[in-house]
Amino acid sequence: MSEEGMRRVTAIQNGTVIDHVPAGSALKVLGMLGLLDSRSTPISLVMNVPSKKLDRKDVMKVEDRELTQEELDRLAIIAPNASVGIIRDYRVAEKRSVTLGTELRDLARCSFSNCITTNPREPLPHRILVHSTSPLELRCAYCGKTQSADDIVNHLI
Ligand SMILES: [Zn+2]
Repeated sequence: MSEEGMRRVTAIQNGTVIDHVPAGSALKVLGMLGLLDSRSTPISLVMNVPSKKLDRKDVMKVEDRELTQEELDRLAIIAPNASVGIIRDYRVAEKRSVTLGTELRDLARCSFSNCITTNPREPLPHRILVHSTSPLELRCAYCGKTQSADDIVNHLI
């Protein structure tokens, strides 16, 4: 967590700070966390802040919620270099990073309209497999169709 990232957004008492998000991706990040439609979670956000590490970055603070490692790992698709701080009583109590696992389960639907997972009579878990991280290669576990990071964002469950 950089000091510069911390200062730009008002301090919060408890919650989660997500720093080093690629510029312009903040709303995608909130979507991945299911917070885009939240009417109850206070979120502060700065976008396009100059950054030594990323050139430009977004920073966000989610109040009164400690995001779990599982929630944070979803962000690896769009913000692989994000640094995360869990804030308790205005201090960074824990630092976390995001890691892309081998599978995204029940996060997003397959983007292929004829995939077996779109058949309501075949209730299957939604499984996107991570074949490679660099470059990022994601495929549906059932039909094998490649899914881009934007596909995931656009087909969130
Ligand atoms: Zn599929």
